[in-house]
Amino acid sequence: MTVSFHLCQPGRGASCGACCGLYNFRDHSRAALTQRLAEQTAQLRDVPKEMEAWRAAAKEFVESRNEPPLFPAVRVCPLLGFIDAEQRQVGCLGHPKVTGGVDLRDCGVYRASICETFTCPSFGWLEDAQARLVQAACPDWYLYGLVITDVEFVRGCLRLIERELGGPARPETMMARPAALEAVRRLFALKETAADRSPYAPIFGRFTPDTVGEPVSRMINYAKLGVRAAPEDDVVLCLGYDPADASVLTAARERVRIHIRAVARALMD
Ligand code: SF4
Ligand code: SF4
Repeated sequence: MTVSFHLCQPGRGASCGACCGLYNFRDHSRAALTQRLAEQTAQLRDVPKEMEAWRAAAKEFVESRNEPPLFPAVRVCPLLGFIDAEQRQVGCLGHPKVTGGVDLRDCGVYRASICETFTCPSFGWLEDAQARLVQAACPDWYLYGLVITDVEFVRGCLRLIERELGGPARPETMMARPAALEAVRRLFALKETAADRSPYAPIFGRFTPDTVGEPVSRMINYAKLGVRAAPEDDVVLCLGYDPADASVLTAARERVRIHIRAVARALMD
């Protein structure tokens, strides 16, 4: 394990529920997910904290869901919700620390022992400083989960910053300079803000469902678009672009470049 702190609930505004299926819908906008989490939280709040009652409530929630999962092979847990009153922290409503002692996670889509011990690939693939940069730049449940689970995106952004600087881009330096950290925040926030993507396409970052509903990696069809590959393309794909023509790809690359230059400028000032 490369990362030395727990990525799921690291604090300072950051929290994640991605492996509980948080984003596993075509419409994984902040508004849609906020509404889903708020409903699940409200519904479970008054259910007696007993296995049978929670199993029944969880089943009802899954059956009444108004949208199927984007990746049918990936489970979506109805026990995910807001674990604070201000709706700023996403987490497991069945966790003993949230229920006040009783462990109700067996009522979700996995066994409690799996929930307790699971660590996603980011724990091993991100370096400690990279993960800390994501935490510092994304003090927000929606954005943090999108970025901390996308190792290719984080690495791709850092590679582009290094390319722009012509030398190393150390996360520690970015965190130490408020203007640079703010520029990194805006770069990572492209996950939410980047324009001209198809919001309801069957796409999550660089993935799309295969025939059995498993996520498979997408590629840019350069031959069809009549363009060559560019250094920004990994990040462009991670942002969920599926360019239908060269002009969309060119504009997406430029959006990424603008933010990369802003980070580099802030680091050189
Ligand atoms: S996706 Fe990773 S960081 Fe997020 S809650 Fe799951 S294990 Fe934790
Ligand atoms: S029960 Fe497990 S899968 Fe469901 S929200 Fe809790 S931790 Fe996530």
